[in-house]
Amino acid sequence: MRPDILNPLFAEVTALKGIGPGLAKPLDRLGLSRVVDVAFHLPTGWVDRVPREELDMADAGRIIAITLTAQSYRSSNGRGPTRVQATDTFGNYVSLVYFGGHAGWAKKLAPIGEPRRVSGRLEHYGQELQIVHPDYVLPLEEAGDTPEREAIYPLSEGLTSKRMAQLAAQAIERAPSLAEWIEPGLLAKQQWPAWREALARIHADPSDTVARERLAYDEIFANQLALMLVRQSSRARRGRALAATGKLREALRLPYALTGAQARTVREIEGDLAQAQPMLRLLQGDVGSGKTLVATLAMLTAVEAGAQAALLAPTEILARQHYESLRRMLAGLPVEIAVLTGRDKGKVREATLMGLAAGTIDILIGTHAIFQEAVGYKDLGLVVVDEQHRFGVAQRMMLQAKAKAAPHLLAMTATPIPRTLTLANYGEMDVSQLDEMPPGRQPIETRVISEDRLGDVVDALGRHLSDEGQAYWVCPLVEESEKSDMAAAEARAETLRARFGNRVGLVHGRMKPAEKDAVMMAFAAGQIGVLVATTVIEVGVDVPNATLIVIEHADRFGLAQLHQLRGRVGRGSGKSNCLLIRGGALSETSRARLALMRETTDGFRIAEEDLRLRGAGELLGTRQSGEAGFRLATPEMLGTLLPVATDDARLLIDRDGGLEGPRGQAARTALYLFERDAGVALLRSG
Ligand code: ADP
Ligand code: MG
Repeated sequence: MRPDILNPLFAEVTALKGIGPGLAKPLDRLGLSRVVDVAFHLPTGWVDRVPREELDMADAGRIIAITLTAQSYRSSNGRGPTRVQATDTFGNYVSLVYFGGHAGWAKKLAPIGEPRRVSGRLEHYGQELQIVHPDYVLPLEEAGDTPEREAIYPLSEGLTSKRMAQLAAQAIERAPSLAEWIEPGLLAKQQWPAWREALARIHADPSDTVARERLAYDEIFANQLALMLVRQSSRARRGRALAATGKLREALRLPYALTGAQARTVREIEGDLAQAQPMLRLLQGDVGSGKTLVATLAMLTAVEAGAQAALLAPTEILARQHYESLRRMLAGLPVEIAVLTGRDKGKVREATLMGLAAGTIDILIGTHAIFQEAVGYKDLGLVVVDEQHRFGVAQRMMLQAKAKAAPHLLAMTATPIPRTLTLANYGEMDVSQLDEMPPGRQPIETRVISEDRLGDVVDALGRHLSDEGQAYWVCPLVEESEKSDMAAAEARAETLRARFGNRVGLVHGRMKPAEKDAVMMAFAAGQIGVLVATTVIEVGVDVPNATLIVIEHADRFGLAQLHQLRGRVGRGSGKSNCLLIRGGALSETSRARLALMRETTDGFRIAEEDLRLRGAGELLGTRQSGEAGFRLATPEMLGTLLPVATDDARLLIDRDGGLEGPRGQAARTALYLFERDAGVALLRSG
């Protein structure tokens, strides 16, 4: 349980003074629902207010402080913003604009005819000047209260940095002093302040890099410690050594030889399986590198040893695809394979459950359904998880509890991520890499095309379809919302249908899984020529005949995502093309990113560059970093601090594996503070 000392931080954000319904919403939009979220919502820099006597168009874009007098109010028919028409001492006009029914408030702040010291960002509005939601509107005698420098926070509509700073101050007030979890030598060397002091310092001075670094370190340390607890507890559990005979694998007739990387990886896995300690291994291999074969050989090893193996796929359709290809590959071998997904009901499901319990089924392929309560295995020896990034630490830990003896775990991912992030996401695992492609792959030719040439692209698609080709058409990510993605995809499908009729199919994230699968199946079967899609096609789908992919507004996707999307083609014997449609005005970074996509198909290079091309200070949301989702540590900080934090966490676990000593206790608190506490439960039960 969370230590009581942290309770004030984990109270609802509404526990802070001055948060009415008006603020709750914008805070919620920023994901700030608890006091701790506000505390960790750090300012990004300073804003300087320029004092001015006279309004000047040339100041547009700047934050100014100026004396203004309200002359009149304009409010467009109730709903629109309230505009306070005000003048400077020279009679120049500016509008102070208040959105969202703040008319009364605006009038109170700036009564007609009374001068006020106003501060905010000056903007153009047509030929006029305006200040939207001024930060300060104060009577002249209080004008001194307008700070010339102020910390700026990431905001959402309805919030000001001033407000955020006030809330942060309250959050810090509630923050307890905590016992130190950082190793004393390191703390001294880095001259880091204590945790609470660091928090206070950074809100007071956004440029305080020492304080910022300390907080980032804490977050990374907690993350690494949590992963190491998982590793420790897994290591402490007895699994069983799987003594392979080689019989099944020898009987397997493959149409090709293993690549060097596959052979090496298979040896690494065999070595792990032969130990009683459960394997914890991550298999990283780019799309098409042949992970399925490695997994198959590993599962056959388990079956040779008399155990069962299970393969977990992220979606229904991928589960069925794996099942079919495994059945084909293992035809003629004495191995019983079954598939189980949430959709299997009634008699079929019953039969599968019986077979698993009796041990007549050797290999089970399925979705999360294969780990439900009701599913009991006779002797589950190995679990393979395909597309690891949909399978978090918590699930990995749950899995360990499923079998009598902890099963060996092989996780596979096609998402190439930089080394630092691998350590942050999978620090508890050993890593194998398939860094070599099977021979004879056709390269994918990638071209970047401006959106004004969309017509040419549609023509090219037309030619491709008349040559019996199939294609993906990926629609832009309009916002981080499935609803708007869907609208864009529907509109595109509509225009393409006008030309290609019923050869156009559509999938998006809002469709029911069964509908989605039906469309995907039709595409796989060749009944659909062009599949218009949002990013739902990102993971694992295999349609070798699809050799063209068009990605609209490619500049709005992350590089890793583009790479995944592009990996949908180039899977068959035909030559493949990827057309990246770009918007009009591109930033330098966007340009560089698209150029990189054109230049290389090496996923790891793309991933490293992606991280490098991020602006300084940019955070890694869960989307980019897998489940780790850091909110204080930036990629750069991760680069420098992660090795140190990893060593430090390992040392602590070596010395005090139960986290019982004073530093261990402090570290437990850190785990709760950064919400990496799932591992603490393992301590108690272990
Ligand atoms: P992924 O790593 O993306 O899961 P797959 O396992 O689906 O890749 O393999 C991609 C394709 O490569 C499959 O058609 C598979 O049969 C083929 N393949 C795998 N290993 C080899 C190999 N050693 N030589 C030639 N083809 C291979
Ligand atoms: Mg695969």
